[in-house]
Amino acid sequence: MAYKISDECIGCGACMDACPVGAISENDGKCVIDAATCIDCGSCAGTCPVGAPAAE
Ligand code: SF4
Ligand code: SF4
Repeated sequence: MAYKISDECIGCGACMDACPVGAISENDGKCVIDAATCIDCGSCAGTCPVGAPAAE
């Protein structure tokens, strides 16, 4: 299990700062989560202004 960021992402970067394991990177204006690194903590979902990250 890992979190995944939907197309709703506006690339604000808040989730990158919130992730404790550095699993989130930005690509072409949107953020993506490395599923192999994500520990499913939910911090990104709690930080995102548009609700883009969600548990798969
Ligand atoms: Fe990082 Fe936690 Fe979001 Fe996974 S759920 S990407 S570990 S903040
Ligand atoms: Fe995208 Fe939400 Fe992360 Fe901002 S906090 S970069 S809108 S997923």
